[in-house]
Amino acid sequence: MTVAQLGNSVRLAARPLAEGGTPTQAWIDAGLRLPQLDLGGCPEIVVVGAHPDDETLGFGATAVLLAEAGVRVQIVSASDGGAAHPNQSLLQSFKLERIRRAELYCAAGVMGLNAPICLGLPDGQIAVHEERLADLLTEVLATKPAGTWCAATWRGDGHPDHEAVGRAAALAAERSGAVLMEYPVWMWHWALPDDAAVPWDRAYSAPLTRFAVERKNLAAQSFRSQLVSPAPSAAPVLPPFVLSRLLAVGEVVFR
Ligand SMILES: [Zn+2]
Repeated sequence: MTVAQLGNSVRLAARPLAEGGTPTQAWIDAGLRLPQLDLGGCPEIVVVGAHPDDETLGFGATAVLLAEAGVRVQIVSASDGGAAHPNQSLLQSFKLERIRRAELYCAAGVMGLNAPICLGLPDGQIAVHEERLADLLTEVLATKPAGTWCAATWRGDGHPDHEAVGRAAALAAERSGAVLMEYPVWMWHWALPDDAAVPWDRAYSAPLTRFAVERKNLAAQSFRSQLVSPAPSAAPVLPPFVLSRLLAVGEVVFR
């Protein structure tokens, strides 16, 4: 997810990671009653994330279900997540990018998906390269059949990179006739179940199975660089409560 730039986000700055965000139980108690996403109409799908792990954390179980049903799923990662840990040297960032790219390949394999496309845009600065990203995604979508779905991090997710990816994907989908869906990742942390900042009127929940969620959890374990503390005094980028919350709440898309 990359939290190094979270200070740039008003929504996330208001709910620091260390404070835990909205508890899993609050989401469960709210019992969101959303219409179910009909996966039957998906000919092929491109799943776009800002950092290696977004696709798994926000959309992994749905991707598993689609792949199980024989749908081609192509992951695209805008960056290699080299800025996940603060105060790194250039060499440390370079090494982290290599590690995170390998972790993404591993996670895709666990989910039964093809090799990801890694675009290598700079972590933390995706908004600066938004036009280029839109062009690259348009190129990817142009190779796909008509009506291909494009799932991307939500334009309102509260993380600058996630939102830039959502905007670029929206433009690429519009140009290529793809069906856009946006998945939240950080929303589950900062939002409340009745939050007016969330477009609940266009939210759908994915019809997940226990197998798909277990597979997502296994795939998420591939992102070891995010799950372990980078230094003795530092917290992991992806604390256990964040992953367990994402596994418990299911997967939602806005379309
Ligand atoms: Zn991310």
